[in-house]
Amino acid sequence: MKIERNKTRRPFIPPKISSLDQAFEGLVVAHHGVAVEVLFEGGERRMVRVKRNSGHVVGDGVVVSGEVMRRLERRTELRRRDARGGIHLVAANLDVLGIVVASGSPSGFADRAIVAARSAGMLPFVVVNKSDLEGTAELLSGIRNIYEGSLPVFSVSSIKRTGLDLLQEFLSRGHRGAFIGTTGVGKSSLLNALCPEINLKVGELSDYKGLGRHTTTVSTLHALSGGGELVDTPGFRDFGLVDISVEELAAHFPGFEKHSEATCRFSDCRHRSEPGCAVTRLLEQGQITAERYAAYMEILSGVENDEADARCKGWKN
Ligand code: GDP
Ligand code: ZN
Repeated sequence: MKIERNKTRRPFIPPKISSLDQAFEGLVVAHHGVAVEVLFEGGERRMVRVKRNSGHVVGDGVVVSGEVMRRLERRTELRRRDARGGIHLVAANLDVLGIVVASGSPSGFADRAIVAARSAGMLPFVVVNKSDLEGTAELLSGIRNIYEGSLPVFSVSSIKRTGLDLLQEFLSRGHRGAFIGTTGVGKSSLLNALCPEINLKVGELSDYKGLGRHTTTVSTLHALSGGGELVDTPGFRDFGLVDISVEELAAHFPGFEKHSEATCRFSDCRHRSEPGCAVTRLLEQGQITAERYAAYMEILSGVENDEADARCKGWKN
């Protein structure tokens, strides 16, 4: 499969990547642990060796000169925290983050993921998958009620291949994205439906000459034939918990931002019982529903507990 860069981003410069004394700008499109695959302007690709924890991730812009690779500044960073508190960078320079849900998804996940995406400078959108199943219609109308007006919502069936056109059209507007969601919601099926070459590509990647067969593909970036790019991050796909801070939650909880013209008296307001809180005032006026406020409070308590735990364990100061 040939990945083409979004042609509107930079003028085309034909690279001569065999030349050692020249530097060429490229994009990290795959990470194999001991090497990254760089796609250069004009379509040429090359594997560049890296140390195992070099810090390069898929989506990174790089300048390669011979075997020397310099990373360019990132626009956005997608991170996750593992069960032991370690922070892992998953992908760089994503524009959008697709939050995939299906009937039975745990409540609160989408809200947390939306907050995490916004805090990291990405535009979140929600994909309600498995629209072919009974029960999904109810989930979809609930999701639309909560989020429409705040962020894009798509209804798809990855298996029946319905609703994909609108999603593809959204991604084609120059968006680089990734899907997150709990196990079983259909992220892999969705990736395959949008990008059928993915399976084939995974098979091809394990055999790069000179690098041996011990390389494992950590993540890859795929250009969609209809436009846009998707990052597939196998290790990240199954993550269930999104790491967010109290400040991020209070600032980006979906539904509260609509009323951002009415600001709280205190900039670090948690919208609990602080005087001059715009959110509790809007709650009293009925402009924020009791359900949404309760959903916020539940996540707030969870995040406060996580932060207290983390402080005890020394992750945070
Ligand atoms: P992931 O864990 O999020 O990557 O989910 P998978 O893509 O592995 O899908 C989990 C299960 O849901 C599999 O049995 C899929 O066949 C099924 N599945 C995925 N998408 C759909 C869909 O649109 N409709 C239905 N009915 N099942 C789906
Ligand atoms: Zn407030």
